[in-house]
Amino acid sequence: MDRRLPISTVTCVRCGSAVPEREADFSADGMLCRTCALGVEVAGRLGVADVGADAVGQAERAFKKSTAIKHLTIGGIGLVGGLVLLVMMGWVVSQGVVSRAILLPFVILAGSITELVRGFTAWSAFRAMR
Ligand SMILES: [Zn+2]
Repeated sequence: MDRRLPISTVTCVRCGSAVPEREADFSADGMLCRTCALGVEVAGRLGVADVGADAVGQAERAFKKSTAIKHLTIGGIGLVGGLVLLVMMGWVVSQGVVSRAILLPFVILAGSITELVRGFTAWSAFRAMR
């Protein structure tokens, strides 16, 4: 691709802003910028005709927040469950029983930590959005 060529822009049919053609989305009404395309999607999901740019931001924030809470909840429960199981397995092993199930708490703990990391990442993304 020739970099000297100017980037062709299209005008968003909803907000009227000029956006690079490759970043625009097609719709039945014409070209849409990313924000408006997202707005249409959110509106469709909510079952309303239209949502403003503010509502799009709010919907994104709410989505990030619920994602964060979901991951943190799963991670938290998994962490507690994994630790309880670890103690139980420790007792089982102390009784001289050797089983592959001993690995289970570690698998659960590793999964929980991954969930917690995801949760914190989503939470900080939520906090960063305004
Ligand atoms: Zn737009």
